[in-house]
Order: sequence, then structure tokens, then C-alpha cells
Amino acid sequence: MITRLSELFLRTLREDPADAEVPSHKLLVRAGYVRRVAPGVYTWLPLGLRTLRKIEDVVRQEMDAIGGQEMLFPALLPREPYEKTNRWVEYGDNLFRLKDRKNADMLLGPTHEEMFASAVKDMYSSYKDFPVTLYQIQTKYRDEERPRAGVLRGREFTMKDSYSFDMTDEGLDESYGRHRKAYQNIFNRLEIDYAICKATSGAMGGSASEEFLAVSEVGEDTFVRSTEGDYAANVEAVVTPAPAEKDIEGQPEAQEHDTPGAETIEKLVEWAQGAGITVDGREATAADTLKCMMVKLFHPAVESEERESELAAVLIPGDRELDEKRLEAALEPVEFELAGDKDFADNDFLVKGYVGPRALNANGIKVLADPRVVKGTAWITGADASERHVVGCVAGRDFTVDEFIEAAEVKEGDLAPENHGTLTLERGIELGHIFQLGRKYTEAFDVQILDENGKRAVPTMGSYGIGITRMLAVLAEQRHDDKGLNWPVAVAPYQVHVAVANKDAAAMEAGDKLVEELSAKGLEVLFDDRPKVSPGVKFKDAELLGMPFVAILGRAFKEGKIELRIRGGETLEVPAEDIVDKILELVRG
Ligand code: ATP
Ligand code: MG
Repeated sequence: MITRLSELFLRTLREDPADAEVPSHKLLVRAGYVRRVAPGVYTWLPLGLRTLRKIEDVVRQEMDAIGGQEMLFPALLPREPYEKTNRWVEYGDNLFRLKDRKNADMLLGPTHEEMFASAVKDMYSSYKDFPVTLYQIQTKYRDEERPRAGVLRGREFTMKDSYSFDMTDEGLDESYGRHRKAYQNIFNRLEIDYAICKATSGAMGGSASEEFLAVSEVGEDTFVRSTEGDYAANVEAVVTPAPAEKDIEGQPEAQEHDTPGAETIEKLVEWAQGAGITVDGREATAADTLKCMMVKLFHPAVESEERESELAAVLIPGDRELDEKRLEAALEPVEFELAGDKDFADNDFLVKGYVGPRALNANGIKVLADPRVVKGTAWITGADASERHVVGCVAGRDFTVDEFIEAAEVKEGDLAPENHGTLTLERGIELGHIFQLGRKYTEAFDVQILDENGKRAVPTMGSYGIGITRMLAVLAEQRHDDKGLNWPVAVAPYQVHVAVANKDAAAMEAGDKLVEELSAKGLEVLFDDRPKVSPGVKFKDAELLGMPFVAILGRAFKEGKIELRIRGGETLEVPAEDIVDKILELVRG
């Protein structure tokens, strides 16, 4: 297959588009892969579409290999199914809602759990039909608050979404495992640098949800990786390894001190060091101080009752900040707010700035603590009186913890779980999400299936997404250099780019012959046959467009040599008679 640049619908740009911030966005526009129509809405030009289709095909092959059956739902959907699961409302402003001429509510699908669950309900009734895995590669619509970075976060985008239906929990585990493997195959074939992150903490049920994050500085997600082994997790899901408990016996008694002006952790540490306070025989540091942060918990409303609120404390070592996102994830479905002046005023045992765990225990306030606050650890903390602190306040002796909670910020260098060394903080782009949904949607749609014993049972569901358009942007992001794109062979719009950079008629003729030969061998070839374009411009375009191999019939052609540039790598001089074989060898890896 040959495409001639003299005919291709393409206009490369030397200037970055004004609205582009990240490299992939700049390059995909400049190289003529996509064109903006509206914020977060893009046209796929010929080169972009070819790449996109190839990414789709890789995903399709791996989904078919695990027994997925492809189908296609419309993007234009009625309101009712989304009403049933309350997502018509819950989706908020992200949902594109519209009305038809009869004034009926419609929406543009942001994701399709509802449609798949109701199709299975309508079509299947016996356990013999299960398990089943269905998928589609389809256009989704989300009115994102901040459409960003070109097709990385669009308002219209392509997603592969699949859904597994199993009669048993073990079956769901297997379906989930198969998807996980399929996703690994996809990312490996596309040569993406990625990490599989636990999306929720172990407490929520092991491997119930994992995200595939592409490693990238421009990513919006922060995640951690271990220096040893392959532990990776969203910051929200990081589990702090609890230190060993310590003996309480023999520890000095708690002592109260006047600490004038020690209103911040920094000043408290300064005071402690000045006063010669030691912990385990060494100088006290911020990590030996304990902050008691007051929060208000809101328990989910039952029926139409108002949600109940409760005052609680979150105890965190003083060298760390409270990470509100981690606390939110740990408390879910309970919600929280930081306590306000009124809460302090209503509870006079709370001395602002000097709250300590002893008064919390004495007044029946629930104490949630960082896992480091294990039994036997000694802390410098508030003494529940203005300008006073207590030293040697020992957990399990002077105060008790009701529950341990992951609420402290995660820092680079923290210990990783399971002896996997320490943690590094990285940024990533979410490319895929696999999720054991359970029976939420099948119950909402009352999917009743007769099991082996003729009893009614509700199948359990898994939901698995991969962003196809986002994947293309990620490839551009991870593989570009300052000159342009650099596609992996598997999804490059053309595997070979041939340029004639020589005015000689013989060179043009040889170029024609070369592309015919390459094409006859089954390769897809982009041929820069433009007669009036300078070699310099041709080289620049070749780098910008990013085909993996560029063959140039240039200066050395007179000596029977063709220059073969490996994009992002070395340049070879190959005798003209060997060039086809050499290219075939490289393409086939
Ligand atoms: P994000 O946190 O980035 O918004 P999400 O959690 O909303 O992602 P899912 O609903 O799990 O994503 O969708 C599955 C996949 O679809 C994502 O992993 C991502 O690859 C892709 N995706 C989601 N939103 C967009 C978007 N606005 N533009 C492009 N791709 C997207
Ligand atoms: Mg989203």
C-alpha cells in the first residue's frame, strides 16, 4: 500500500498551536494528525485515523482472544436506563443531555453499563448462557470541566468498554484476571511504559479495582511505585506498613510542659530541641509530634432522613500533612469536613491548637489514627490547655485509638508495603481501568437468571475500559523528541517513509520502484514524491510525522547507496540492492 505525499490530505505546521501546552497536543496538530473543531472535540485527519484504527485493532485482537464478543451500542441514548441507576442525575454537568422533537430526554452515552446490563437481562435467562463477555469500541461523550491537552482529555473520545457477566464471584475473578492479562498484552504490544495501580485500598477487597497508568510528567494522576518488586498504587490506595508495637513497660511517664508560642509544629520542635527532649534516646523531630485534626463525619442518609454527623479526630505525625483525598477515599461512603469554629465553640474540651488525644478519649470522641501510631509509640502532642504540650504520651497507655486510617500524605522515600523497598512518587495518565462492579447494575435492572437448581440468581458484573484516543496521545507523549513523533511499528500509520531528496530523474524512478517493491512485500509506505520540495523540508517533515523507518534517496544515491534513518536511532547507509531486505528485517523486528 502506497500513499504519495504529493496527494495526501496533509498540511504540516512549523508553529505550535496557541492553545497547546503538552508536547503530544502540539505535535499531533503540527504533524496533521488531528484538527480542533471545538474545545475537546477533534477531527481525525488521514494520518491520525490510520493510527487510531491500528490501535483499535490491537485492542480488538486482544479482546477477541479472551472470548469477548464485539457489538455496538448507539451513542444517542434514552434517559430511562440512566434514570434507573440514578446516573442521569449523578453524572451532573459531565453528561450531555438533549431533547428530541417530541420533548423526550436523551443523552450522549458517557459509559454503557446500563445498556449492557439491560441487554443481558432481555436476552438471557439461564445460567447455561454464562459467563459472557461483551465489548464495544465506541464514541463516548463527557462534557469534561477542563478538556485538556488535545485528545488526551476530550469531550468526544473513543473508548473500548467491555463488561463481563458471571454467575459466581469466582467466575468474576477469572473474567477480571483475563482482562488484566489482555490489557498487559495490549500495553506491551504498543510499547507503553505503564504501571498497574491498585485503585482502592486493600480494605475494599483486594484486586477489585486497578488502573493502568501510563508514566508521564504531564499526567494528572499521582501514583507511587516501589523501588523493589512491582508494587504500584494510586496515592489514595497506598497502605502504610505499620511499624512493630513497642513495649509500654519501662517508658517514662507522660509529662506536661509549658510551651509558650509553640503554635506550629516547627516551633514545637524548636522548643523540644531547646528543652533537650529526647525520643528513644535521640533528639526529637517533627515525626515525633502528633497532630490531632478535628473533622466532622457525615454518615450516608438512610431513606430520606437527614445524614447524621459526628465529630471525630484524625491523628497524624507532625512531619506530614493531612491528605484530604486519601482521607476521603478511606472514609467512603462517609463524607467529611474539617471542623469549624462552631465545633470548637460547642465543645469546650477542644482547645484549638492544643488538642490532645487524652481529652478526645475522655469525651468519647472517635479517634482515627495514622497506622504509625501503634501501641507503645511515644508522642509530643497537645495537652488540651493553651500553650501546653505533653511529652511521652504513649499510645495504648495514655490514649487509645479507635481505628487506624490512611489519611497522611505519602512521601517519596516512605517504606513500601510487603518489603518492596521504598516508594517513589510519579505522575501518570490513566489509560485503562478494570473494575469488579459486582451486582450493582444487574440488581438495578433486576437481571434474574435461573441457576443450576432452578433458583433465581443475579449475575455479577465486571467493567473494563481503555481509552483508544487517549492511547494515541500517550504514545505521542511518551515517544516524541524535539523534532517530532515516533510511532511504534505496531501502530505507525505507515511503517516506512521513503523520500526522494535528489533532483535526479533516476532517483525519482528508483524511488518509485522501491516503494512498489516494499508495497509488494506487504508494507505500508508513505512516499515523499513531492517534486518541488527541498531536501531539508522533506527531512523535517519525515521527523515530524514520525514513521519508524525513513529511507532517503539523496546524495549517496549516485554511489548506489540509500540512507536508512531509524527514527530516534541510528542512520545506516545501505546498498540499494539490499534496502528492501533490510527494511523488512527491521519492520519484522
Ligand atoms: P479520568 O480520571 O482521566 O477522567 P475516568 O476515571 O473518568 O478517567 P473511566 O470512566 O474509567 O475514566 O474511562 C475508561 C477510560 O476511558 C479511561 O481509563 C481513559 O483512558 C478513557 N477516558 C476517560 N475520559 C476520557 C476523556 N475525557 N478523553 C479521553 N479519554 C478518556
Ligand atoms: Mg473522568
